[in-house]
Amino acid sequence: MSNLAIELSELLGDGARVLTQSQVVERLSRDFYWYSPVLKAQLDGKRADVVVQPISTEEICAVLRYCYRHDVPVTVRGAGTGNYGQAVPLKGGVVLDLQHMDVIEGIDEEGVAVCQPGVKLGALENYARERGWELRCYPSTIAKASVGGFLGGGSGGIGSVAHGGLRDFDTVRAFEVVTMETEPRVVMHEGNAVHDVLHAWGTNGVMTQIRIALTPAVEWAQVVVNFPAFDSAYDFSETIAANEAWTKRLVTVFEWPIPSFFAPVKQLMLEGHTSIFFLIAEAQREQLADDAQAAGGTVSYAETYAGLRSSPLLSDYTWNHTTLWAMKADAAYTYLQCGFDAERSREQIALLKKKYCSDFLLHMEWMKNGAGVVIPGAIPVVRFTTEERLNEMISYCREIGVFVANPHVNHVEGGGRYREDNVQLQTKYRYDPKGLMNPGKMATFERRDVGEVQPI
Ligand SMILES: Cc1cc2nc3c(=O)[nH]c(=O)nc-3n(C[C@H](O)[C@H](O)[C@H](O)COP(=O)(O)OP(=O)(O)OC[C@H]3O[C@@H](n4cnc5c(N)ncnc54)[C@H](O)[C@@H]3O)c2cc1C
Repeated sequence: MSNLAIELSELLGDGARVLTQSQVVERLSRDFYWYSPVLKAQLDGKRADVVVQPISTEEICAVLRYCYRHDVPVTVRGAGTGNYGQAVPLKGGVVLDLQHMDVIEGIDEEGVAVCQPGVKLGALENYARERGWELRCYPSTIAKASVGGFLGGGSGGIGSVAHGGLRDFDTVRAFEVVTMETEPRVVMHEGNAVHDVLHAWGTNGVMTQIRIALTPAVEWAQVVVNFPAFDSAYDFSETIAANEAWTKRLVTVFEWPIPSFFAPVKQLMLEGHTSIFFLIAEAQREQLADDAQAAGGTVSYAETYAGLRSSPLLSDYTWNHTTLWAMKADAAYTYLQCGFDAERSREQIALLKKKYCSDFLLHMEWMKNGAGVVIPGAIPVVRFTTEERLNEMISYCREIGVFVANPHVNHVEGGGRYREDNVQLQTKYRYDPKGLMNPGKMATFERRDVGEVQPI
């Protein structure tokens, strides 16, 4: 055992939660960065020296105090399902694995859940639905992903068509943050101050107790509708997504051949068609089927949703899971994350299809933006040949007004959720003056003489 591991074991008084076995450390140093051929080349082989699994805020403080004193980098880990190497330690040190901090404290009368960061989103969803509430939005990795990891690295997902992304509409009410200083502090962030730390990839503190707003539970139905052409499917999906009269949680459109990649459920869809996956209020299921047929669509599956135990669970094929199925079918596929212009989306889609044909497969995810407007988001499945061509695709998207959150970069500023007001960076200067939290991921951070660091 290294000195680092021995001293951390003494600190926790429990060697069992300081992990040094090579394969274990390697596994807990990885996330889903390999989704990106660009990041795979950059991040393969990066690993921590040791993994520490705290069970309380006091233990987190003790670990950060020690690491600050000894200049040891710390990378926080929820469940390691992030796509961009967010939880991969670039400079060794400690992976702070929060999986054992998994207590749900409760839900208050206004529907705000209070929990520890290591709680699995799926556990929180089940707990909430048993009490008449449900998550406003969640990633398709709900079964594995943690609440802290979603706040630290995620953005939205199923439910975003009605409730916007994670950072919208005060969904994240508050959390405590442990700072990386001589004497770590536990600072409460609430209201607008949550944006200081949200989606900062654990570069400016460790979120502990979290308060997240839920929404009243709905009885849902899962429905698959197929159209012979993309355009008519897209038009129909928009009439449902953009109309507030429909109670929905998911409106996802897949251009053919994407449905053919979904091996376990491909019999639920029609060969050669564009398919739409819906989570729609059970009470509106029949109306949806009637409207779909009137628009030229064919309903090939419609069942009451039985929660996360549903089989099939359609959300397992949506959001970024779509890319996973595509990569299983053909390892040359990768993805982009796009936002189309609500007014010009058809023209933008036509330009992209004309230029890239089957190298750019349309996977649309309708979502509400922070202004309350439902817009066509997309996670297109794209064929990777070279990094230059991928960058050229991104440039072309931007040239024609399509927003791209580049998933092939390994720093907060390069993705889609860095704030233009720089609050995440400013918070890092306040809470992590030595730059030891997930070093390298806040690319614009410059370590200053620690004695001179002033609160901003
Ligand atoms: C197949 C697939 C589908 C996905 N679909 C979606 C999707 O629909 N929507 C979406 O938003 N994302 C999606 N993701 C990305 C990812 O699954 C989610 O963002 C998920 O919520 C991350 O949770 P995690 O616990 O795995 O976080 P991790 O990967 O463990 O961590 C993510 C980041 O947060 C930081 N972090 C973790 N805990 C804390 C904490 N307590 N305090 C401070 N920082 C912390 C980490 O350091 C890291 O930088 C997908 C990924 C995959 C592989």
